[in-house]
Amino acid sequence: GDSDIDSKNFRVKLVLLGDSGVGKSCIVLRFVRGQFDPTSKVTVGASFLSQTLALEDSTTVKFEIWDTAGQERYAALAPLYYRGAGAAIVVYDITSLESFNKAQYWVKELQKHGGPDMIMALVGNKADLHENRTVSSQEAQEYAERNNMFFIETSAKTADNINQLFEEIAKRLPRPTS
Ligand code: GDP
Ligand code: MG
Repeated sequence: GDSDIDSKNFRVKLVLLGDSGVGKSCIVLRFVRGQFDPTSKVTVGASFLSQTLALEDSTTVKFEIWDTAGQERYAALAPLYYRGAGAAIVVYDITSLESFNKAQYWVKELQKHGGPDMIMALVGNKADLHENRTVSSQEAQEYAERNNMFFIETSAKTADNINQLFEEIAKRLPRPTS
């Protein structure tokens, strides 16, 4: 009946945080449209996209994705974005130590102001640029473990691990009770 459908199809608000230029918008566009546009313009304000993912246990999750831009410069606005979010993706660029440090700032902000059950992912993007890596996978992995996050390295350019990122988040989301 209907209640069965409701318990098997749920939605979640997901926010992306991280320095400007780390690839947040490209990750979203890769996941939602299967595309990578190297000339894409800087996000203005917040853009909103949704994508439904079917899971192995025959549930579906509709991600309502808030791709923010203002938060990069106006940190005071950020709580407006992550209010009510069930999941957050904190992104850095594996070739930028500065962006990794900024990611840690966002993790602390989420721990202070986010909901207690928020699923958090730490994402090292631009994995295709591994020759210019400055952030070690091991360091990031250890940081993620200490902060109850899961860690994955992605490339929006090659699509490496993009679907896996969203699948891992979906697996960790609390299922609605019917
Ligand atoms: P945002 O400011 O975090 O939303 O970053 P964007 O998604 O706008 O990407 C910033 C720049 O990084 C753009 O020039 C993208 O083409 C580039 N970029 C994004 N993801 C990747 C990636 O996985 N690999 C490489 N090589 N470049 C990327
Ligand atoms: Mg953007």
